[in-house]
Amino acid sequence: LFFKETYSPLTSDEIIAKEKANMDKKRFEHCIGVSKTARKLAKLNGYDEDKAALAGFIHDYAKRVPVEEYRKVIKEQGFDSDLLNWNRAIWHGIVGTYFIKRDLKITDPEILQAVWRHTTADVEMTTLDKIVFVADFIEPGRDFPGVDEARKVAYNNLDDGVGYELAHTLEFLVKNRNKIYPRTLAAYNVWSVK
Ligand code: GDP
Ligand code: FE
Ligand code: FE
Ligand code: FE
Repeated sequence: LFFKETYSPLTSDEIIAKEKANMDKKRFEHCIGVSKTARKLAKLNGYDEDKAALAGFIHDYAKRVPVEEYRKVIKEQGFDSDLLNWNRAIWHGIVGTYFIKRDLKITDPEILQAVWRHTTADVEMTTLDKIVFVADFIEPGRDFPGVDEARKVAYNNLDDGVGYELAHTLEFLVKNRNKIYPRTLAAYNVWSVK
């Protein structure tokens, strides 16, 4: 595991250490899996592999930040106050970008946007947004009914991978009677509908 010092004044070892200290072992291994999968998807889609690998590695950096800290940052750092009606599942991407800038010193707007969008997706998605969104879903550690089909679809065509994932996520949320984040629904209408 190594990240070139292109996107942060921190060394690769420092980024890895901060990431590791901010999550449990299982989540850390997930992030390594997402990083490797993002690299693979970048190669297949003609995108910068090192950049995709870093974005994948840090995407869940803020997953375990305490709820009260999130609420404080949403109020004080200019985030949409509607976010206060949601939870860490939604916050760790969107508001997670604040902690990534603060702690990992990563400021690249493409990387931060891909983290921002990694849970909900969006109507418009760049190649990097799609890579991180899909890699999160199909990394080797993921095991759920449909994951093999998701891998097949995504490695064949990245856009189809986004559509498959959003349909699967919507199905899951509806089945559990969870509240749908409006952006997730808007993204589904763009990427999943035939
Ligand atoms: P992870 O961080 O690697 O576990 O994966 P994600 O960041 O993709 O997703 C985090 C959680 O957010 C998952 O449990 C999703 O089901 C959930 N999630 C995604 N979209 C929505 C949504 O629109 N509404 C709600 N309530 N949860 C969502
Ligand atoms: Fe996540
Ligand atoms: Fe995801
Ligand atoms: Fe993740």
